[in-house]
Amino acid sequence: MDSIRKHDRIQMQIVSTCHDLGIEAKQEHRGKGWRADVFIPRSENPIAFEIQLSPQSLSKTLTRQSKYSQDGILGCWLFENPVPKLNNERPDLPVFYVEDTDDSTLLVNLGDRRKIDLRTFLENFLSHNIQFRSIAKTKSLQNVKIVFYQMTCWKCKELNHLYFVETPFYSSCNAKIKVEEGLWDSSSIEYRPEIIEFAAKFADDRKDLNLNLAQIKERFSHTVGDSYMSFGCYKCDSIFGDFYVMDAKMDAIYDTSLISHQGEIELKDKYELNIPHWCFPADKKFCDEH
Ligand SMILES: [Zn+2]
Ligand SMILES: [Zn+2]
Repeated sequence: MDSIRKHDRIQMQIVSTCHDLGIEAKQEHRGKGWRADVFIPRSENPIAFEIQLSPQSLSKTLTRQSKYSQDGILGCWLFENPVPKLNNERPDLPVFYVEDTDDSTLLVNLGDRRKIDLRTFLENFLSHNIQFRSIAKTKSLQNVKIVFYQMTCWKCKELNHLYFVETPFYSSCNAKIKVEEGLWDSSSIEYRPEIIEFAAKFADDRKDLNLNLAQIKERFSHTVGDSYMSFGCYKCDSIFGDFYVMDAKMDAIYDTSLISHQGEIELKDKYELNIPHWCFPADKKFCDEH
């Protein structure tokens, strides 16, 4: 059975890496109602690693986790594949994913936000350099790609260019902030001043492309009965409703012939986003620390 061999291989690698790092690690260690694949028996923060290559539900995982916590042990789960309900990072349940590479190095995927090799993972998880945080702070330099798509003004029929941000952002700890998580101060990434500037500069530098950039600003919407940030016609300033923008964007997403622009931007502020994640900063400054 291939998955049994894989399980054993991961288990052996954890044990041997721990020994390399000078950390005591026991294979198949039994306690009251539990048996850890690898157990790190230390007086403070003992840890049990569980390699779970077959699917296991959230409730089953939590039940097994409670057996560890009753004994003052932190269970750490290494799954082979992301489990839907286990995707949400939570502090009481460290769940990571192990991935094989072509040269059979094992990678640990921190919640689909960042991949590190097994040794780096063990060294830092066991010394508490990888910790749960509920806030992700953006790093200042970001490499972004914006994609332009077209929309005709409903009022004056003039062709406008709108854009969306295609690339994820990264936190100061290098965790990926997925595009769909990019609601910043309750408005979308596209409306950040740095992105507006980035798009405007490109349109200006590349006059040959004739981009008529729809203008982003606060406008009053009669439909909504309130003012909010919106795209609007560059010519007559009519507001482009969210629904129509979303519709045009959905059509554009699969169009590979669209004009795009990629480059580095510098965020003027550090944004704190409500994104629970396993934080692994290079400088030991976790996302909620200044
Ligand atoms: Zn117009
Ligand atoms: Zn972080």
